[in-house]
Amino acid sequence: MTETIFSKILSGETPADILFEDELAIAFRDITPQAPSHVLVIPRSPIQSIKHAGEEDCALLGHCLRVCAKVAEQEGIAEDGYRVVTNIGDHGGQTIFHLHFHVLGGRKMTWPPG
Ligand code: AMP
Repeated sequence: MTETIFSKILSGETPADILFEDELAIAFRDITPQAPSHVLVIPRSPIQSIKHAGEEDCALLGHCLRVCAKVAEQEGIAEDGYRVVTNIGDHGGQTIFHLHFHVLGGRKMTWPPG
């Protein structure tokens, strides 16, 4: 996989406001927040999107979702509810090709998304 801004955050080359990290994943604030709380959760493993994940990645994907829930608790948005989104490819609106989950909260979300 080619280098992305997220691989540079993982290596420490690019700074980020990191809220959580463990051996499998990290969570940091989105630089252009779309809600009062907007955090990105990414695996350390360079998977481009869930489209590129295999059976061997199932535990990692589950772990990332658990990290999303932990971060939401940490951010104080869990009680009111929040949204977890992952964009895939062009029509999905993906702009950075390293798998990431957006955790958005602190306001009422609308549906359907645009
Ligand atoms: P997506 O459009 O789903 O690929 O989301 C990429 C997200 O990464 C966007 O919400 C951007 O605001 C965010 N982003 C881009 N560069 C950075 C950065 N250096 N630090 C934190 N978030 C970033």
